[in-house]
Amino acid sequence: MKLVAEKPFLNKKIMYYHELDSTNIEAQKLAKLGAAEGTVVVADRQTAGSGRLRRRWESPAGQGLWFSLLLRPTIAAADCAQLTLLSAVAVTQALRGLTGKNFTIKWPNDIMLDGKKICGILAEMELAADGSVEYAVVGIGINIKMAAEDFGIRLAATATSLYLATGIVYEREQVLKAFWNEFVQLYSHWQQHGFAFIRQNWLEYNCTLGHRVVIKDNDEEIYSGTAEAMDDYGSLLVRNAAGESISFNFGEISIRSCSG
Ligand code: ADP
Repeated sequence: MKLVAEKPFLNKKIMYYHELDSTNIEAQKLAKLGAAEGTVVVADRQTAGSGRLRRRWESPAGQGLWFSLLLRPTIAAADCAQLTLLSAVAVTQALRGLTGKNFTIKWPNDIMLDGKKICGILAEMELAADGSVEYAVVGIGINIKMAAEDFGIRLAATATSLYLATGIVYEREQVLKAFWNEFVQLYSHWQQHGFAFIRQNWLEYNCTLGHRVVIKDNDEEIYSGTAEAMDDYGSLLVRNAAGESISFNFGEISIRSCSG
């Protein structure tokens, strides 16, 4: 589902780096120095790119689009968790548009094709003393050029790239541009009209609902069942064998107070 000409209001300023520990860390440093919303931090490679729970995100030189987006949304902190879902919808639409392939979203933050991960998303935010959002940083890694042998043994079974999916070598700028076009529309819409439209799109693209899921806390299984629904705020409702339904929030959003 596409938005009709919403007036976007995000100015893009791209900063390229040869190497960074993590684009999210750099974007947060820039945010603290007052960088504007719309600043995009791109690195050829990350030495310490990370996913949720500080898990390592492999970001080899020149093989993917490793970037973070600095945002200053005028939205309640509690709703900012939706940025992960919004970004996942934007990536999915961009990759579908570029390739014609049916990329899907695994709740909450992974973009998949045929059961393999092509993109991970990590959103983080900083709160001001009054509880409002000082800034949010959305880190996104999209595998572009890897051939099967470029993934280590562990990832070869679970990861894919645009090249593996299509046989085409896409350029990083092309992928970023496609993402940006989708993101700007969705982000503007979200701030003006809320989450409902994003949610509808997310539901259309997701590959989680109706399937068995295992919920883990620090790699320890704490619950399992069937993913039944995503509620109006983005939480996942999971029904277990005993028929109880429990709602899970995103584990990957680290909410820090101004002191932390
Ligand atoms: P998940 O959402 O699956 O729990 P994370 O969002 O924490 O995972 O992402 C980190 C995980 O993604 C790593 O533990 C690893 O299994 C996988 N991974 C790391 N680098 C890549 C990559 N470049 N492409 C696909 N998967 C990756």
